[in-house]
Amino acid sequence: MEKTIAVIHGDGIGPEIVEQAIAVLRCTAQRFGHSFTFIPAEMGGCAIDKYGVNLPQQSLDTCLAADAVLLGAVGGPKWDGVEKTNRPEKALLKLRSALGLYANLRPAQLFGQLSDASPLRREIVANGIDFLVVRELIGGIYFGEHQTDEIDGEPVATDVMRYAQNEIERIARTAFEAARKRRHLVTSVDKSNVLDCSRLWRQTVQSIAAEYPDVELRHMLVDNCAMQIVRDPAQFDVILTENMFGDILSDEASMITGSIGIIPSASLGAGSRGMYEPIHGSAPDIAGQDKANPIGTILSAAMMLRYSFDLAKEADAIEAAVSKVLNAGYRTADIAGDHTTVIGCAEMGQRIAREI
Ligand code: NAD
Repeated sequence: MEKTIAVIHGDGIGPEIVEQAIAVLRCTAQRFGHSFTFIPAEMGGCAIDKYGVNLPQQSLDTCLAADAVLLGAVGGPKWDGVEKTNRPEKALLKLRSALGLYANLRPAQLFGQLSDASPLRREIVANGIDFLVVRELIGGIYFGEHQTDEIDGEPVATDVMRYAQNEIERIARTAFEAARKRRHLVTSVDKSNVLDCSRLWRQTVQSIAAEYPDVELRHMLVDNCAMQIVRDPAQFDVILTENMFGDILSDEASMITGSIGIIPSASLGAGSRGMYEPIHGSAPDIAGQDKANPIGTILSAAMMLRYSFDLAKEADAIEAAVSKVLNAGYRTADIAGDHTTVIGCAEMGQRIAREI
């Protein structure tokens, strides 16, 4: 298979972690007989320094022409004073919207070797944590009208939550397709006892489920889901939910797995092209010190293979390699705990690549 990957190194630790993910992808391509071409695209603070804008047109064109986008992270205190619409992080929103990425996929997976890093009780963690939050990304209350009026001398704020049926249908299909690549169970999360948007959500998801008879569908209210994630996370395979609920639940889900340095994410649209990035930011406090954990970015590359290129075996190989290196006792500082074998970003990447 031949694929072109646009690579946004970004700012802070971005360049260090992305280089390790590229090294792992190169080894994977070699082992499985594929050809990946990596095309750099500048975005974020580094692009502001060089071109004066956070997302230069040529970078956008590179991403639009690629089969997938791999991103490190953007931003940092150096650009705090930049005009609001040109902030490094704003480039992310521009890029997501230009690529039409309406689905955010964030796995909550606890590597057994890191179970001490979870804040949950040992007996809960022992049942395993391995689920995927599929969050609608460009609709709902974050994208409805926001306004503050003065009524009878008092400020009154209004935020509108709106969903069209087609927006729910497409994200539901993303969740069912993802479940087909996993354990064939979707839990759709809403607040249908209160909200009209949620009632439409539930009806629509139910009707899309008919297209996927091999996938089981359950419904759950969002407040209950927030409890169940910490009470019994093993019950979940794919959690499907709208934008704001997904924002909150996916952070809760990341927290129970320990370090933010190891969690990947994917943003997908209608076609197969997606954007893949770790959930953390540019970590300016440790940038350039070879201390960053590259695993979140490496696992994002594995998601790219699974979701954009349909290369499940290759994605499995990357995940297995990460697991083997952790099994062998190697840790970056953020997940070290009491471990003595603390290694740097580059060595972690090299060890994972070598396993492949
Ligand atoms: P952060 O995620 O960058 O860092 C939070 C803490 O976690 C820091 O102590 C950092 O050292 C640590 N950390 C993060 N990633 C790590 C890794 N891979 N390995 C080891 N430790 C890691 O969050 P922040 O400090 O709030 O944000 C820093 C900058 O990143 C800000 O400018 C913010 O806007 C930006 N940001 C960018 C993205 C993105 O590009 N998608 C996401 C979030 C924040």
